[in-house]
Amino acid sequence: MRARLGDVIDDYCVKCKRIMNHSVVSILNDEPAKVRCRTCHSDHDYRHEQAPPSKADLRKAALFKEVLERLGPATAEDPLPVPEPVAAEPEPVAAPAKVKRAKPRK
Ligand SMILES: [Zn+2]
Repeated sequence: MRARLGDVIDDYCVKCKRIMNHSVVSILNDEPAKVRCRTCHSDHDYRHEQAPPSKADLRKAALFKEVLERLGPATAEDPLPVPEPVAAEPEPVAAPAKVKRAKPRK
């Protein structure tokens, strides 16, 4: 679907803090580049309907990165140890291994 100037599309408005109707005001490579909120009339880059990460999210991400770095690069690259799954079914009774014995040759 090609976007055209003046098309009304949904996008996230930082001023309205929600997905609002926007008019396409600038096109780049057949993609909306800039849009104008039809509610508050502010222009901004087209965000592909994605809300920008909140400051809390950014802080959380920074903290997480810091913790990873403190653990050291070797540990950070290793996946976290997965706890052993708790066996939901009772352990099968260990039956004596059936050994197929070759019939003694006569
Ligand atoms: Zn708006």
